[in-house]
Amino acid sequence: MRELLGRRLSAVPYDPLTEEQREIRELVRSLASERVAPRAAEIDKTGEFPWDMVELFREHELFGLPYDEEYGGTGSGALMVLVAIEELSKVCATTGLILAVQELGSLGIKLAGTAEQKQRLLPRLASGEWLAAYALTEPGSGSDSAAMRTEARLDGEEYVLNGGKRFITNAGVAHLYTVFAKTDPEAGHSGISAFAVEADSPGFEVGRIEPKMGIKGSTTGEIFFNDLRIPAESLLGEVGEGFKIAMRILDRSRPGIGAQGLGLAQGATDYALEYAKSRETMGKPIAQHQLISATLADMETKCEAARGLLYKVGMMIDEGAPDDELTKISAMAKLYCTDVAMEVTTDAVQVLGGYGYMQEYPVERMMRDAKITQIYEGTNQIQRLVIAREMLKENRAFLLAGVG
Ligand SMILES: Cc1cc2nc3c(=O)[nH]c(=O)nc-3n(C[C@H](O)[C@H](O)[C@H](O)COP(=O)(O)OP(=O)(O)OC[C@H]3O[C@@H](n4cnc5c(N)ncnc54)[C@H](O)[C@@H]3O)c2cc1C
Repeated sequence: MRELLGRRLSAVPYDPLTEEQREIRELVRSLASERVAPRAAEIDKTGEFPWDMVELFREHELFGLPYDEEYGGTGSGALMVLVAIEELSKVCATTGLILAVQELGSLGIKLAGTAEQKQRLLPRLASGEWLAAYALTEPGSGSDSAAMRTEARLDGEEYVLNGGKRFITNAGVAHLYTVFAKTDPEAGHSGISAFAVEADSPGFEVGRIEPKMGIKGSTTGEIFFNDLRIPAESLLGEVGEGFKIAMRILDRSRPGIGAQGLGLAQGATDYALEYAKSRETMGKPIAQHQLISATLADMETKCEAARGLLYKVGMMIDEGAPDDELTKISAMAKLYCTDVAMEVTTDAVQVLGGYGYMQEYPVERMMRDAKITQIYEGTNQIQRLVIAREMLKENRAFLLAGVG
């Protein structure tokens, strides 16, 4: 019995994964602990993009997870991608993000691409030959993405793009960018179109790569379009559909950031638990002081609640839930998992006391890494706005009918 208990890792008493998905989780878990964890502190310290992690994903076909078999992927579904990001982020959030952004940067093609675009582009992303990026944010438009100024003008058989994007993950390392630009600057949301832009297109330039608080190995940078010319067939979906495509992508990609947050929270909980069992004060392990054990219990409970919400949205995506049902739950999963990430990693630092504040211990990095999950792919204020907006569309008056 003792042995059995000893074998329980971070316990997930029940999960909805199939046998095949559990096997993939085991593979990712062992890669995470054997190959990714030993690199995490160094990636954070050097701030260099971890190409060796990309190579690891390529070798073990992890890039294939978000893609159907017909495009060279494993066809294992959205839930599996979330589980993989969670496992990787338990030990290194920068490495987990590589998978999340590969999906983010290719969802536009999956959702709105033509058969030709899918055939040409997706296999290169599924093999990891190309990395992808999603370019929506500009200096003057983050939360208010419709205020973007980048323009795309049709010139014969080509679109000509002018403008630039800021804070783009994978800037400089991605080959394929999903870019949003105004094809009709007067038309607000409906004047935006989406394009698949290759980094070797004439007029494409990478600007400053930002130094930042966490996820230091991930590049975040500016890209510029100076009379950038791309074939007209680079348009994704119809002219003017870009904003809708951007939001449909986010409904499916935000859970990936939730998974990154959950991985950070669970990784920090696991570390704090083991530390609390061995660190002694006042004659006993700190885990036996009630205030510490209560903190650990709260951390674990929050992780498990976050996992429930996250896996639910993963299953909904896999079952083809309609857009209007995904928007709210996806925002809820992103909001909750990432708020939990910030709370739990902060608690983990507290459990370790002064040692938690030192770079020698990974919870210091986890707390810094957790902060971004509350900001990108829509800040958590924006998630609350989205959830409330969806709630306001609902009519629950009947529930109260007859209540005195
Ligand atoms: C490391 C990093 C990586 C990123 N990667 C990408 C990427 O790959 N692709 C991409 O397109 N973008 C990316 N971003 C951009 C990111 O999505 C934006 O920074 C984010 O959406 C917020 O936009 P902003 O920074 O302009 O803040 P602002 O929109 O200026 O917001 C400032 C503050 O005001 C709040 N706020 C704004 N409007 C409202 C409102 N209506 N009600 C209540 N509060 C509000 C916000 O929540 C925030 O707290 C990245 C950012 C970072 C830092």
